[in-house]
Amino acid sequence: MRVYISIDMEGVGGIATMDQIVRGGHGYPRSQRLMTGEANAAIEGAFEAGADSVLINDSHGTMDNLLHDELDPRARLIFGSPKLDCMAEGISAEHDVAMFLGYHAAAGSPGVLAHTSPRTSTRYD
Ligand SMILES: [Zn+2]
Repeated sequence: MRVYISIDMEGVGGIATMDQIVRGGHGYPRSQRLMTGEANAAIEGAFEAGADSVLINDSHGTMDNLLHDELDPRARLIFGSPKLDCMAEGISAEHDVAMFLGYHAAAGSPGVLAHTSPRTSTRYD
């Protein structure tokens, strides 16, 4: 079983303010630890459920938020930008499972830090 994970930051447990999600914010380092912890929980769960491989895509802001040296080394990581498929970079038909963690609601919808970003991928233009 091949598992794909895309992880954003706004929807991670314990994150609720702009200061926590913007690089340089006072709360940002703690948010990196929380995000990495949620990623590791999902990676561990995937392997316990029989995954043969896990690919995780860092999908928030600069797309370089996860703490690499604290991330479960069994997972392969995609980070940085630009990415052709942005928050879905790396997903393919070869994956059996896809998880989208830490996502937020769309602009105008109820939810913590709800917003909508302009599409940055050019693959489907
Ligand atoms: Zn985000």
